[in-house]
Amino acid sequence: MIKKITAIFSLLNLLLFVNPVLAIGVSSHATKQYDIPGSAVQISDSVYSLGKAKDPKSGKVVEGFAVVHYKNPEGKISKAARAKKTNTCYGYLSTGAKWKTVEPWVINPANTRGLPGDILLNNLTGDISKWEDAADGVATNGKIVNILGDGSITTSDLSQFANTLNSVNEVYFADITTPGVIAVTTVWGFWGGDISTREIVEWDQVYDDVDFGWSVSGESSKMDFDNIATHELGHAAGMADLYTASCSNETMYGYATLGETKKSTLEQGDIRGINLLY
Ligand SMILES: [Zn+2]
Repeated sequence: MIKKITAIFSLLNLLLFVNPVLAIGVSSHATKQYDIPGSAVQISDSVYSLGKAKDPKSGKVVEGFAVVHYKNPEGKISKAARAKKTNTCYGYLSTGAKWKTVEPWVINPANTRGLPGDILLNNLTGDISKWEDAADGVATNGKIVNILGDGSITTSDLSQFANTLNSVNEVYFADITTPGVIAVTTVWGFWGGDISTREIVEWDQVYDDVDFGWSVSGESSKMDFDNIATHELGHAAGMADLYTASCSNETMYGYATLGETKKSTLEQGDIRGINLLY
């Protein structure tokens, strides 16, 4: 009898050890799920339209984009996009669409991977500064503009606002249900019409802490938070994904791998792109 119980415990331990989803299922941490809504319309390799909503601040009708970040090589990016030739290695969600007011943001740092909230807040703040520093065309001489404002920590459940325009810029962790997706940044704005009238009015980010382990020191078996966050914050500022193989060292290259850290520093295309936008 004792032997049998021990065997059951061993089996249970093994299951918990090899299956993080199961382990999370029996823990007290309530993991939220994030879905690209069924009503979303795919408009490019990594961008889905969430539809239109009235911006409470301006009263204008804006459109939401969900920008999906895939792990290499599980992504579903077309061969044509990967073979596309470019001399520039930067692109925009919509030409000229950028922040025209500086807004604060919040992070609920609760995650299943033990990353401390103060480190996540500091890392996101530092990663935003990289884009703001590069906005003058040089990435090493200090920042000259505020693009995304200051962050703070909240304990509110931000997942309730997923895919909605609510005038708050939110960052949180959840189980992203689409396989192979590391993170999603949603961005709301006026994307069409005269270029001078285009504007971004909200950004939100969700990072998958169920399918991926996370590190703040580039551990080889995990996603490096700065590496992914610097890329995601590029979307929040208005930058688009790149899939051309010759642009694979750029922060805005659309794929990421475990242990990768090179995207936490901006490359020539990233710097030139943000400089021309702001
Ligand atoms: Zn991306």
